[in-house]
Amino acid sequence: MSLPLLAVLVNYSCKRVDIYFPTDSISNFVEKPVVVEALKTRALPEGSCDKLLEFLRLYRDAVQMIVDRIWSINKRLSWKKLHRLFYSDLVRHGLRAHHAKEIYVYANSLVDSARSNSGRKPVLRKLSARIDKYDYRLDLDSMTLILKLHSDYEVKLRLITSRKRIEKFKGWSNYELAVKYEDGEFWVSVYFRRTIKPLKPRTVMAIDLNFDNVTIALFTFNGRLIRLKRFKTPHRKILTHRVWVERIQRRYPRSWRFIKGVRKAIERHGKKIKNISWDYSHKIGNLIAILALKYQSVIILEDLEELKENNKKSREFNKKLGLWFYRRIQFCIEYEARERNLEVVKINPRGTSSKCPRCGSKLIENENRVLMCRKCGFTGDRDVIATINLYRKYVSKYSRCGAPGVAPNAPKPDESPSGMQGNRDEAMKNTSSCMNSYES
Ligand SMILES: [Zn+2]
Repeated sequence: MSLPLLAVLVNYSCKRVDIYFPTDSISNFVEKPVVVEALKTRALPEGSCDKLLEFLRLYRDAVQMIVDRIWSINKRLSWKKLHRLFYSDLVRHGLRAHHAKEIYVYANSLVDSARSNSGRKPVLRKLSARIDKYDYRLDLDSMTLILKLHSDYEVKLRLITSRKRIEKFKGWSNYELAVKYEDGEFWVSVYFRRTIKPLKPRTVMAIDLNFDNVTIALFTFNGRLIRLKRFKTPHRKILTHRVWVERIQRRYPRSWRFIKGVRKAIERHGKKIKNISWDYSHKIGNLIAILALKYQSVIILEDLEELKENNKKSREFNKKLGLWFYRRIQFCIEYEARERNLEVVKINPRGTSSKCPRCGSKLIENENRVLMCRKCGFTGDRDVIATINLYRKYVSKYSRCGAPGVAPNAPKPDESPSGMQGNRDEAMKNTSSCMNSYES
């Protein structure tokens, strides 16, 4: 059995992010790039809602029971073991086969994350359940949903949302949903996915993010630079709000949490930061994807996960803001690109802003963001060099189009001249379904 895939789902339009662990049933999708999106909507049961509430209580108590038991076992359990230990017990309580599986997998993931975070045993209060595709029938045309509950009960729900929102998901497949009861209302989140057939790229767009700028460079596969664009980031604005928050917290080091006015002031700055960062990310993501579609580009991003603690760029990010804003920008770029069937590839950024694109030696900072190579005399703007290096790395790793492209101003690729390491499938794997994680 394969490991569950961690996907971050986003209800993009209203900026909500849900983290969700699909089960092994979708492992065959990991190979292909896929867009996953949740449709969250209120749902109204037809007739009495007693059975649905009864089911949600049963489900919650069952999860809690399994959590308690896994907690007392105090060691990692394989899925096989989980099944052996808990399956028949759950089914005896009137739960269906797939309910049972969802429950022990979910309980196990709760215990796992509690152990690695707080160390306290999870206690469930909310009424919510995850339901596998075998246990519901969704009809988008009539906007109704039938849930199969415990002991062969069924409940029919009407989805309370606009046709327009539903329309988008026709032709997508859905594989799981979550139903919850909150403040007297039922809500469902249906998880949809769509496999992307990426357009065959004709050009390569390399993107470098740094504190002040987003630099976009567009290359042909044979190494000609055709467009170069630079956008300012709102980092300094965000930083100003951060400084304010820190100043307030320093002034009231012990009490800021408890004084309403102070807390409100901090929240106001937090909200500003959130708005500025999302607005910017949406805009830049959209802009980049439009440009990439026009030139039919594959988009090359830096793999932020590869930034190690001792890396210069990582230090720069963390000192000033943390990586979350870069992740958010990347997330929006990826999202908008996938919407347009464009391929996105992440490349390890190690050395991209410090090595000479012509000879590979270490560059030295000349003046004001201009880097120079002592060995071969190459000079260039730091951000542009980063994009050239990203392009070079991509081409030597993935390109199949004969000889690897030669970067502008950098005639001979010095190392690993083969453009045939890696193949198309590997490139796909890299761009497959895990959307970027983020921190709010
Ligand atoms: Zn050089």
